[in-house]
Amino acid sequence: MTNFKYIKLFVICGVPVFMHWSLSMVLLLLVLYSAADVSMLIAAISFFTIMFFHELGHMWFAAKLGLKSLKIKLYLFHGRFCFEESNNEYHTCLVAWGGVVVQAIIFIPCIVIFSLYSDVLPWFVNLPLVILGYINALIAVFNLIPAKGLDGRRCWKSISLYFRYGRSKASRHKNRKKHLRSIK
Ligand SMILES: [Zn+2]
Repeated sequence: MTNFKYIKLFVICGVPVFMHWSLSMVLLLLVLYSAADVSMLIAAISFFTIMFFHELGHMWFAAKLGLKSLKIKLYLFHGRFCFEESNNEYHTCLVAWGGVVVQAIIFIPCIVIFSLYSDVLPWFVNLPLVILGYINALIAVFNLIPAKGLDGRRCWKSISLYFRYGRSKASRHKNRKKHLRSIK
């Protein structure tokens, strides 16, 4: 990308991952500040881990549905996954579930571990466990609100398509022209 707004971090499974300049500035400041207090850096890395794995979840579901992943962009408060949208609306809506599913795969064990062992674990382990567990679960629930700009709108639409057409018919239901799509 010949755009100064983004820094290319790495490529994962052939998909480039970009970071917006605002995120790199904040991370740099947190690294400098970590000499005085490392907790903010640990908290920020935990939050960005949620964001990154959420986008990987979309990528995982897109791959399962045979849709081409194009890029992942990470911003200060959210990520964006760009992919080649299916001409099948049901499949495009299913990709939205990927982020929340991966968040659940992370927050369930983190909440269990924190509930069982927080008394004996050091603060620098408990802090990421709380963020990757409870905060992560709250973000996932918020993201499932069926509102514009949130995954919830497509997630719940996939369920309505499923019940309207049945699984096999929904999978065959083609009602869109194939074009590029990006979701948060
Ligand atoms: Zn998402």
